[in-house]
Amino acid sequence: MINHKQFFDSDAFRQQFHTDLPLGSFCRENGTLFRLWAPTAEGVILNLYHSGDGEEAPEAFSMTLKENGVWEYDAKRDLSGRYYDYSVTVEGVTQRSADPYAKACALNGQRSMVIDLKITNPDGWEQDTAPARPKEDIIYEIHVKDFSWDAASGVTKAHRGKFLALTEENTSLHGDGIHPTCLSYLKRLGVTHLQLMPVYDYGSVDEGGSDEQFNWGYDPVNYNVPEGSYSTDPHHGEVRIRELKQAVQSLHKNGFRVIMDVVYNHTYSLDSWLNRTVPWYFYRQNEDGTPSNGSGCGNDIATERSMVSRYILDSVLYWAEEYHMDGFRFDLMGLMDVPLMNRIRRALDERYGIGEKVLLGEPWSAGKTAAKEGTLLSVKPNWKQLDDNLAAFCDATRDAVKGNLMQEGAKGFVNGGGLSTGHLEQCLKGWVNAHGDFSVNAPSQTITYLSSHDDWTLWDRLVFTMDENKDFEGYQPTLLRANRLAAAINACCQGHLFLLSGEEFARTKQGIRDSFSSPVTVNRLDWQRAWKNQKLVDYYRGLFALRKQLVGLQEKSREAHLRIQTVEQLAENCVSVLVDNRGDGSRWNTLLLCFNAGQENLHISLPDGKWQLLADGESSFLWRENLCLTEKAILLPVSALILGLES
Ligand code: CA
Repeated sequence: MINHKQFFDSDAFRQQFHTDLPLGSFCRENGTLFRLWAPTAEGVILNLYHSGDGEEAPEAFSMTLKENGVWEYDAKRDLSGRYYDYSVTVEGVTQRSADPYAKACALNGQRSMVIDLKITNPDGWEQDTAPARPKEDIIYEIHVKDFSWDAASGVTKAHRGKFLALTEENTSLHGDGIHPTCLSYLKRLGVTHLQLMPVYDYGSVDEGGSDEQFNWGYDPVNYNVPEGSYSTDPHHGEVRIRELKQAVQSLHKNGFRVIMDVVYNHTYSLDSWLNRTVPWYFYRQNEDGTPSNGSGCGNDIATERSMVSRYILDSVLYWAEEYHMDGFRFDLMGLMDVPLMNRIRRALDERYGIGEKVLLGEPWSAGKTAAKEGTLLSVKPNWKQLDDNLAAFCDATRDAVKGNLMQEGAKGFVNGGGLSTGHLEQCLKGWVNAHGDFSVNAPSQTITYLSSHDDWTLWDRLVFTMDENKDFEGYQPTLLRANRLAAAINACCQGHLFLLSGEEFARTKQGIRDSFSSPVTVNRLDWQRAWKNQKLVDYYRGLFALRKQLVGLQEKSREAHLRIQTVEQLAENCVSVLVDNRGDGSRWNTLLLCFNAGQENLHISLPDGKWQLLADGESSFLWRENLCLTEKAILLPVSALILGLES
């Protein structure tokens, strides 16, 4: 296998072929312009079609090579609505390829489409704005299909599992008008951001096939086009675009900001549009020429090369601008280089204001990657070199609270695994300047979470570690207590709060650890379960409402951790801290947070003053009442106690 590494990594290649010319297809006043970057090609032909799929002899036009490896065809006619692809010849081999810069495509993304984006805007799109930036980010991760697939969701049948389900308001359990589901349920829950698992065009679901198909979608085909299986018509390129915009518009109108999950670290297959247009430029190669596989998915994108980083930056800015996305979650960000991530941060800050768009990512990869020597990757040990407004999923808190994810049966603080005081204190401080594997500059860099789409749900983890019978439907009181304690700890950690949809109602995937291609019946949000576990939902709801009032935990600066002070450890399985909660409009000057994972009642001597009860192990809405304690408090087994000293 030929190794192109040296050639593509060289300064000479970059100097000769880097371009900032806009790429893709463009509707202009006097016609339609096509531009493809293919510097190693000997010839490129543009093929034009009338339909997006099916047999059809194309109209074909030779393209002209311009500077920096850009091929151009300037059609003096309006081609909007027409489908196209390219025939690219490199080293004597001709391959058909869709446009890597396509903004629209047909069924399964096989042909690109020329689109005048104005026609895809829903009514009122120009006036669409995100809700004001909340004091705290509470990010709720959903998958478009599993969110509304359940008939109990009460969503119109034709919209279930589609983008348009996100436009339905006032839905309820089987339409009973009493128990809110979907958007109405989430408004009540109080989360601020919805994180959409992949909504770009991915390859693992046949868009022309059965609606029963399911995949998470971490397998990009067209980076700048929405996924067709979530639209009501995947055959016509404009429909999926309009329907995703309608979804974003509706989420904004209903008070949510929208974060998009993006996967720039690998593609569905190495045989991608990127690789058909410029073979090997977009991918890392091992010394022997084989594809690098740090993603565990068969290929790694070479983010450190200039036209790759440009491609990724262009893509992020495009989604922010055209689809009004409010944030991005980078899958396996450990495979992407630090300079690129900081560039993305700066570019968004310049356009939209500092920190206005949320950026978060996984600070790891699945394996070793063959990046160019000297490339600084966005992995945990390098995190402090990233901008303070780039947040990492904090596996340290996750594992400390519920047990090490990598070890089946491992326990954490809430399920009887114990924990040192210092360790839980680090969780609460968001691991700022910690001496360990996870260490950040400020809580703005920390995503504090207990569950995400990967691995067991929190409930399944508790079942595995606490229930001999492995009964996922049992809702045993001991497990519910541990769940509430875990939720309370997470809600008290400095950083951005994050949860997998359904964590708040004891979501189960029946113990399936990796459900990426499990049936939709396993993955779907079970809206009956949401109401069966209403008490647990209410506990999360109260915590979110309380957190929005706690300035001492909201602060994201590099000094925020100084607000937290450990107090004497009361018992082996108990941690308590004082929090300086002073700030604008704060009702409580000081907070006392106590977490007891032990099986005994603990008697606490309170510092001087009148302490208001804000939450305990049973209720997180106590702050609405005016219950005060002085001198003493009792901390029940496996429970949290949150007190506030009135201002
Ligand atoms: Ca697709």
